[in-house]
Amino acid sequence: MPGPGYELVGQEELKQVTDVVKSGHLFRYGKQDDPNFQAKVFTFERELAKRCNVNHSVAVTSGSAALIVALMAIGLNPGDEVIVPAYTFVATYSAIIFCGGIPVLTEIDASLNIDPNEIEKHIGPKTRVIMPVHMLGNACDMDSIMHIAKKHNLIVIEDACQANGGSYRGRALGTIGALGAFSLNIFKTITAGDGGAVITDDDDLYIRAFSFHDQGHLPNRTGVEVGARSILGLNFRMNEVTGALGLAQLRKLDSIIETLRIKKAKFKSQISGLPGISFRTLNDPEGDCATLCTIIFDDPQKAELIASKLKTNTLDKSGWHVYANMEHMNKWLQEHNLPYGKGAYPKTDDILSRALNLSVGVVDGGLGASFGINIHSTDEEIEKTGELVRKTCHAV
Ligand SMILES: *Cc1c(COP(=O)(O)O)cnc(C)c1O
Repeated sequence: MPGPGYELVGQEELKQVTDVVKSGHLFRYGKQDDPNFQAKVFTFERELAKRCNVNHSVAVTSGSAALIVALMAIGLNPGDEVIVPAYTFVATYSAIIFCGGIPVLTEIDASLNIDPNEIEKHIGPKTRVIMPVHMLGNACDMDSIMHIAKKHNLIVIEDACQANGGSYRGRALGTIGALGAFSLNIFKTITAGDGGAVITDDDDLYIRAFSFHDQGHLPNRTGVEVGARSILGLNFRMNEVTGALGLAQLRKLDSIIETLRIKKAKFKSQISGLPGISFRTLNDPEGDCATLCTIIFDDPQKAELIASKLKTNTLDKSGWHVYANMEHMNKWLQEHNLPYGKGAYPKTDDILSRALNLSVGVVDGGLGASFGINIHSTDEEIEKTGELVRKTCHAV
């Protein structure tokens, strides 16, 4: 059971995909005068932009592709440094590396997101971008980050791959910086199996993002190539079947978030007030995607003991999202004379060793969230799970 969108794949997705297959148009471009052409990718882009309240969106093949397209849109140069958190999925780093940039890892705070107080010490002559990652469905402290970026003339690209549907002070995540990136892989709030999108309000960045994702072609939604290709690009185009799935899922996003918020509130009320345990800081509780519930213990031994009793892991042992556990990334960092391996980011190590992810809508062992509730959980199941957490904590 991966993400909540995946759990809800049903008739709506079937209808959308059937439309495409019946139409005979699998490619995102179609003839304007062909009534069969469904323009699912285009419609997905328009509805996503509208939902986020920005002018533009470019659908792509993955969240990784969305990050690469965003970095190419701002014209990242070889050797440019990008400030990123030490707790994120490896794609945040690898996207930067394959664009020729250098990811500069930065400590996180009790929000499990990048600590704004740690950013300025990493800013130097080569710094070009800050890439905050809205981890586990919750916003970074964007006011502080935007303030720092403005002061040092840096571009902000938001990795919102885990936070599609979340917001910060009323603005959709991904829309506060220059560009935002979403993923549609199966562990995200909504899914098309794989897929992604870039969003931006800026016309020029949109043209560059679109062009890069389609071999330099200018945005042209109905298919006729109008020329004037100003940049070299690659092919990260979304196809119509993926667009159809993405569209059906996007139309479920509001109800998914609403459902998860109700279930998370119930779950949280069951487990609040336990001695020595606090909840992760939320920079904007109202914008929470409610996909996960992170608890932080005072003591790492206690955290580990309780995790093992609940048959799960503390976040430092959760797998993929911890820099210290990325052998391939650590090899790269070592080769580039950058801090690597456990101990390189001690504050991050400490917080992750005391934190536990309880699932609410995203059930993902790779995130350390194999234990908890899910989008189908009944009130009774939520109570039972809450009780188990409570009893386990009291017994330790
Ligand atoms: C999932 C994810 C990505 C990459 O998305 P894919 O669609 O799997 O390529 C990037 N960044 C973060 C933080 C993610 O969680």
